[in-house]
Amino acid sequence: MFLSCEDEPVENQSNPVQPPIIVEPEIFPDLGHDGPYTHGNVYFGREGYIEYHAGNLPIILSAPHGGQITPDEIPDRTYGTMVTDDNTYELTKVIMDTMKVRYGGTPHVILCKLKRRKIDANRDSVEAAQGNRYAIRAWQEYHHYINIAKNKITQQFGSGLFFDIHGHGANPDGFYDLRTWLGYLVPGDVLDQDDTSINTVDNSNKTSIRALVDSSLFNFIEVLRGENSFGALMDSLNYKSVPSVNDPGPMGSRYFSGGYNTARHGSRGGGSISAIQIEAPRPGIRDNPVSWSKFAQSFTIAVDEYYFRHLGRKVKP
Ligand SMILES: [Zn+2]
Repeated sequence: MFLSCEDEPVENQSNPVQPPIIVEPEIFPDLGHDGPYTHGNVYFGREGYIEYHAGNLPIILSAPHGGQITPDEIPDRTYGTMVTDDNTYELTKVIMDTMKVRYGGTPHVILCKLKRRKIDANRDSVEAAQGNRYAIRAWQEYHHYINIAKNKITQQFGSGLFFDIHGHGANPDGFYDLRTWLGYLVPGDVLDQDDTSINTVDNSNKTSIRALVDSSLFNFIEVLRGENSFGALMDSLNYKSVPSVNDPGPMGSRYFSGGYNTARHGSRGGGSISAIQIEAPRPGIRDNPVSWSKFAQSFTIAVDEYYFRHLGRKVKP
């Protein structure tokens, strides 16, 4: 029997009850299905939650807490920290563009566009996604893209730097520390010790810049907070930082020494990519486009100098 548009099948007329709609769970393609990843291209992951700019420099920038998207398919997380690091998505992209101009190439950049109450890309998958399969997928993509960048850099350059970019607000007691906190997985109470106590092989092996320290002609304490430290370089460009020569430790004040990403993607556990967590205050750094741009200029100069002093070459493709 043929049915034209006007004809109704007899069964439907006599049986108005519709069969239940069965929604098949979405099948995710294997991670890497959107590769190979070519310098200059941008990859977005499922639903555009994760953004990856494939680069050609030995530098990775990651911003896990600057996202704004709140899709209904992912319920709010029920425990953990929910605070967004305001403007770190924007700041990180300005740093990327500034590096492009100074270095003549682009860093690898991984950005989470989901709001932190939907996912925390700087935690293990259990706390990050809290069981939601779409959040788990986004989390997997985030770290997949970082792994891609690390592998590419290791093959191409043999060493590299990973910066996990965050923002800190006022302390619980209301005091706003306007210094940038640099996290190397060295706890605040250790930083508050004297140089001789800190400068041990044991401490050096536990830091997220272990590979960089091993390559450097300078010893651990010098790389951590001496004249050749990243903090001292930022300080010389008018961004006060902890640790540095002038601010060797937090002196008992609140301080973040590095989270999941710094531990996982740095060189504490081996490998040749070293990681530093950047915790920037809002005033003067994250507050508006002029601040982003000024900070990006100084940050880019400091990264170039730091890379040269410890890894023996300028940052270039
Ligand atoms: Zn953060």
